[in-house]
Amino acid sequence: MSNATTTYADFYRQSIDKPDAFWASQAKLIDWFKPFDRVCNYDNPPFAHWFEGGQTNLCYNAVDRHLKDRADQAALICVSSETGQEKTYTFKELHVEVQRMAASFRALGVQKGDRVLIYMPMIAEAAFAMLACARMGAIHCVVFGGFASGSLASRIDDATPKVIVSADAGSRGGKVVPYKPLLDEAIRLSSHKPEAVLLADRKLAPMAMVAGRDHLWNELRETHLDAQVSCEWMNSTDISYTIYTSGTTGRPKGVQRDTGGYAVALAASMKHIFDGRAGETYFSTSDIGWVVGHSYIVYGPLIAGMATILYEGLPTQGMDGKPDGAIWWSLVEKYRVTVMFSAPTAVRVLKKQDPALLKKHDLSSLRALFLAGEPLDEPTARWISEGLNVPIIDNYWQTESGWPILTIANGVEEKASKFGSPGVPMYGYRVKLLHESTGEELTKPGEKGVVVLEGPTPPGFMQTVWQDDERFVATYWKTVPGKMVYSTFDWGIRDKDGYYFILGRTDDVINVAGHRLGTREIEESISGHLQVAEVAVVGVADALKGQVAMAFVVPKDAGLLQDSAASLKLEKEIMKRVDDDLGAVARPARVRFVTALPKTRSGKLLRRAIQAVCEGRDAGDLTTMDDPAALEQIRDRVAAA
Ligand code: AMP
Repeated sequence: MSNATTTYADFYRQSIDKPDAFWASQAKLIDWFKPFDRVCNYDNPPFAHWFEGGQTNLCYNAVDRHLKDRADQAALICVSSETGQEKTYTFKELHVEVQRMAASFRALGVQKGDRVLIYMPMIAEAAFAMLACARMGAIHCVVFGGFASGSLASRIDDATPKVIVSADAGSRGGKVVPYKPLLDEAIRLSSHKPEAVLLADRKLAPMAMVAGRDHLWNELRETHLDAQVSCEWMNSTDISYTIYTSGTTGRPKGVQRDTGGYAVALAASMKHIFDGRAGETYFSTSDIGWVVGHSYIVYGPLIAGMATILYEGLPTQGMDGKPDGAIWWSLVEKYRVTVMFSAPTAVRVLKKQDPALLKKHDLSSLRALFLAGEPLDEPTARWISEGLNVPIIDNYWQTESGWPILTIANGVEEKASKFGSPGVPMYGYRVKLLHESTGEELTKPGEKGVVVLEGPTPPGFMQTVWQDDERFVATYWKTVPGKMVYSTFDWGIRDKDGYYFILGRTDDVINVAGHRLGTREIEESISGHLQVAEVAVVGVADALKGQVAMAFVVPKDAGLLQDSAASLKLEKEIMKRVDDDLGAVARPARVRFVTALPKTRSGKLLRRAIQAVCEGRDAGDLTTMDDPAALEQIRDRVAAA
């Protein structure tokens, strides 16, 4: 609700000028078992420790504390247009299920500080598992269910989980996607082996059980029906979870988050940014495998006492499995959703549907639609804004930040959005634009620079890279000469009113339909094919998905370029390889064969030049290029396609 006495500018200034007082006041939004002694310890930059000395629990704040006032209100609403199933858990029922899951974990040997890897479709058990970990102080690592064995194996090795939680299968577009064989293959590939695997059996696909290792949740649950597992009081700075994200190297990074800071950050954002109120319903269409799923499917709405919808399925498929471009709007109507969160790509998919579908259901409960994960183009924003007639709020953030960096805080003061801009810096974030090479701060409107944050980063922000403080500092805090600032690796500009515009990544990360992918990971998978000599993967603009991956491959046998049947065969094999290693999300949209790749004289791949040529733009300064013919060849291949 707007607070007429506070302007957002004042609110923001307080967070920057008097951060301790500001965050101490926000910390009242959650329940503490033991109050904190110190708001922020920044004695050892860039490591910020929030609410030191305090003790709390994420699950307690998300579930238990609501039992007093709203035990019988909806907490978790699970809807699957894939299986046609729909089930609501009240806070009381959620409390019971989470304890059953926690007791099952305990029976499998999980203790405080152990890792539990969660590789699951969008089903209730995924949320139970996350909350059960938080309840007992185990660290969850959710891996997106769309990732394949290779990606999963490298995450198992990094997280070294004691237990893995999974299911027989997910389903997409009516097609069953078995998870168990992918998981078994990942465990075969990984050096670390979990002690136990807990499986939810949806009866969608047969499961080969490994005796002594694999356990059925459906059975274990029965033995813990009345389980009571109390919340483990965690130090505020104790780790709650890690989530893997892609960077410029092939090795994914485990983004590590604390407990108290995260809980406060989410509670504050639910109030000031999303303006979600207890007793209402929140609907985020993301997946628990992404940070949005952690913050705004599971923890954020529940901490705020809201019901949250966990949706499995496409945006265009009805509960009967038949096409229905209004399925999401029917859920808004049925569950009286007040706040919705989605991604621009999803809206671009809906934009292909009959616009009358936006008017088919009663959407009067909806107050705002938040969109994030990738740039929101103006035509998409206008289309949905006119169709729904509610504010469309772009918000910019990253896996690392855990909650929005730039947006509009309508819960503090209602402010107009500007098309193409996610908005202004959120409270607690010291956002700056720096010159790419000199590191000089850019203060004039319209100047393009790297978006950076000055420390200390606010509560909820990543603590470090899991088990690798050095990598955290080297990757994020040492990119600008002479300055210790956090780089977002995004280009941005600021206009005269202080609104930011994000212009894309400064590194080799691409964004396909809101999914963040490292081009290096895809290149590593492709170069593992015996017939591939070299490969470059770039992100190319795409009208629907924002970007798609395009691979340029130098085959070991140059004769392949003249043989269309052999080229086609290798292209298919390359696609399959990426599917098997990383998952279909990472599969290149196109593979083109060339005899050489454009590089600098020192041998560095000129990915940005390749990308520019693919998008029909000027390739920029090529004075350091070794072999100009290589770029011409790419231009020809793209033109010929
Ligand atoms: P992820 O960590 O997967 O959430 O990806 C974060 C990246 O997605 C950011 O660094 C940006 O490049 C991009 N991104 C996220 N939200 C937005 C937005 N609202 N506008 C433009 N780019 C965005």
